[in-house]
Amino acid sequence: MKRQDVAIVTGASRGIGQAIALRLARDGYAVVVNYAGNEQDAKQTVAEITKADGRAIAVKANVTRSQEVKALFDAAEAAFGPVTVLINNAGVMQPGLVSIVDTDDALFERIISTNLQGVFNTLREAGRRMKAGSRIINLSTSVLGLASPGYGAYAASKAGVEAMTKVFANELRGREIRVNAVAPGPTKTDLFLEGKPQELVERISKLAPLERLGTVEDTTRVVAFLVGEEGAWVNGQVLRVNGGMV
Ligand code: NDP
Repeated sequence: MKRQDVAIVTGASRGIGQAIALRLARDGYAVVVNYAGNEQDAKQTVAEITKADGRAIAVKANVTRSQEVKALFDAAEAAFGPVTVLINNAGVMQPGLVSIVDTDDALFERIISTNLQGVFNTLREAGRRMKAGSRIINLSTSVLGLASPGYGAYAASKAGVEAMTKVFANELRGREIRVNAVAPGPTKTDLFLEGKPQELVERISKLAPLERLGTVEDTTRVVAFLVGEEGAWVNGQVLRVNGGMV
């Protein structure tokens, strides 16, 4: 971590994003806690950071809207200076499992616009603004490797994210900006638990040879490594973090 590091974490009001924001703040980064609607949880996250002498602000921005993404970067720069770390964490999935046949137009559009276009919007903004030494992490999913039934739109959105991760790393040649993706396995958050009966949660928790669900810390540790100096030579990679599930 460099003293002047400023991180935007999208979708940091809850779940994995919140844990990443808390971890980066603890490591000394100034953190922008982005959220879509959940102001109370975002403010709570900021309060937790500032109570521990960290630096953070909450900024509402819907990542599907490019103007709001621009405003998010503007707010970050106004508060802390140039953004040096972008964590593309904001994401949605339908409750439970839904086959492609049963996915309606509105659900498909919601998943693609948040998970794929949202990442496109922030990458484009970051590419226009970031200076040498900056780092970007995109959240994918290990479900993509499993190709499990019931995740059609969701897996498709993350396949696009993984593609853009590698293309963007190549497009940034010569600018010393690293772009990587982290693909967690099933992790105990609202997104994973919502709409799944207990027996399904238990079955999924046994898929990995380590036979448990992931915790948010399992992912934050890897993100902290990738954006930190120890990850300096890792670029254009997708790192699966799932206890060996796939
Ligand atoms: P949660 O549902 O717990 O949290 C989602 C976060 O994203 C919230 O902070 C939410 O904000 C924010 N968000 C949703 N839509 C938007 C939007 N349009 N603009 C800005 N922010 C938005 O999800 P998780 O923590 O589980 O997931 C985080 C990431 O990790 C996602 O990309 C997900 O696909 C990925 N992932 C999760 C796995 C899991 O098993 N949990 C496994 C693999 C990957 P608000 O609170 O305001 O609604």
